[in-house]
Amino acid sequence: MIIYMIVAYQIALAVTAFGALVILGNILFKKSGTHSRFDVVYGMVAFSLIIWAVGRFFVLTATEFGQALFWVRILYTGSILVHVLFLHTILVFLNLENKYKTLLFAFYFNAFILVSINGIDFFTGSRYFIQTVIPKLQFAYYEVPGTFYNLHLINYLFIPIFTLLIMLRALRDTSGEKAQQIKLIVFSSILGFFGGNSVVPLVYGISFEPYLLLLVPFHLGTLAYAISQHHLFNMKVIATEILTALIWIFILIETVLSETNQDLLINGILLVFVIVFGIFLIRSVSKEVQLREKLEELSKALGEANEELKKLDQAKSEFISIASHQLRAPLTVIKGYTSMILEGSMGHIADSVRDALQKTYISAEQLIKLVASLLDLSRIESGKIRYEFKPTNFVEIIQKVLGEFKHNADAKKVVLIFENKAEGIPLLSLDADKMREVVINFIDNAIKYTAEGTQVAVMLEKRRAGWVRFSVRDQGIGIKKEDIKKLFIKFNRTDEARARDPNGMGIGLYFVKRVTEDHGGKVGVESEGSGKGSTFFAALPIK
Ligand code: ADP
Repeated sequence: MIIYMIVAYQIALAVTAFGALVILGNILFKKSGTHSRFDVVYGMVAFSLIIWAVGRFFVLTATEFGQALFWVRILYTGSILVHVLFLHTILVFLNLENKYKTLLFAFYFNAFILVSINGIDFFTGSRYFIQTVIPKLQFAYYEVPGTFYNLHLINYLFIPIFTLLIMLRALRDTSGEKAQQIKLIVFSSILGFFGGNSVVPLVYGISFEPYLLLLVPFHLGTLAYAISQHHLFNMKVIATEILTALIWIFILIETVLSETNQDLLINGILLVFVIVFGIFLIRSVSKEVQLREKLEELSKALGEANEELKKLDQAKSEFISIASHQLRAPLTVIKGYTSMILEGSMGHIADSVRDALQKTYISAEQLIKLVASLLDLSRIESGKIRYEFKPTNFVEIIQKVLGEFKHNADAKKVVLIFENKAEGIPLLSLDADKMREVVINFIDNAIKYTAEGTQVAVMLEKRRAGWVRFSVRDQGIGIKKEDIKKLFIKFNRTDEARARDPNGMGIGLYFVKRVTEDHGGKVGVESEGSGKGSTFFAALPIK
């Protein structure tokens, strides 16, 4: 166990030194040739990590006192500098260097003093920073702090916590890729903090095995990853990778150190199994993450497209609303004057003119209906239907509308009949104008979609307690089964209806449904099929 941990630390330190060297090499031999301020400080972080890792590595291999003390003093040069340099890197990365200039300077000053004292010890043999090295736990040589070592706690504790707070604060105001990047750096810093600091208790004589030293290479790895290819980053994958790699390392060491052949065999098989399993695990996690990222991207794109569509839709509704308002007034004027001329209010007119005017009148009426439909639509779409509910005599509304349609029905030789089976119902709480439109729509359709010489039966009845049902039954074109469900949907028209009246818009029933439902009621239609007539109804609650 003892040698086992020392070997593990050595591997971790060697990997750290090697990794930091790779980072440093990358920065020094950068393709673009120019070095940003970030490159400089990040490069210095890598450099001090190399000093630290190499120093610590040789302390572990040292076989005599002088050698160990030598390397301890070397390693602390890196250890003192790396914290403030890391903070500096983060500040440059977050563009906060200027804001914390003074504090940063103070930290550098502290580091400078400590490096100097350590240097004096190194050259003169004094013991201000590191007093000596002695055996501790399984370590043959381990440092004993000198008087000034306590100042180093600023680097160990204060700077990392400060760095972390700065990142967390920046995270609050950042989103997207950069936020992901900061998150990973935070994660990496936490690994570094616990990894690096795990040696401190033992320095002060607390018997705490610095296992977490093994985290340092992962700190470096995640940091490098975050900085270089943050867009590929995902915490879940990295965490899986680290965990798997740790298990591999442990079992590998166990295997190498097997005492009997049987142990070797078992550990070897276990190792192969764990490696294969680990690879599958990492792959599947990364696949899942990729898939999720893709989904997120897609749903984001969809969301944006949806927003865009909503905007377009709103623009369209506004356009319709404005256009129809502008059309309505002149059309009413055309219809009014034409009607007056036709009635002879402006003197006698020749028959040929009458014919033309009659057509003008019908066209104007059609257009007015169309505009009314468009206005209804735009009111629904913009959510601007306003209701004024008042106790209303529904029967009166129906009778009035029937009167208005008499002319139309006569022209088409359609017999309009009204059967009131709901005598004595109380006044209903309705918006009279809107319900009038419901009645108009049903009756207008019934006459429109019916052949000449048939009958349209309008009925008001109480089929269920607490409800009245208004219905209009015709003997017209009827509706196919498959079309029935679609009728109350915006712009939906049957082929038969299109053939009979190409001018319809398919908005009337949509409006009827909305208005009836806003009154707490329900709409519906019954038809035996094509050519067999239909019955449209609106049921309203008696409140
Ligand atoms: P429009 O009459 O302008 O087409 P509506 O919303 O009033 O718009 O009607 C939608 C569709 O419902 C019509 O196109 C037609 O297919 C069908 N419909 C409505 N009333 C009847 C009816 N009385 N008989 C047969 N089909 C009808």
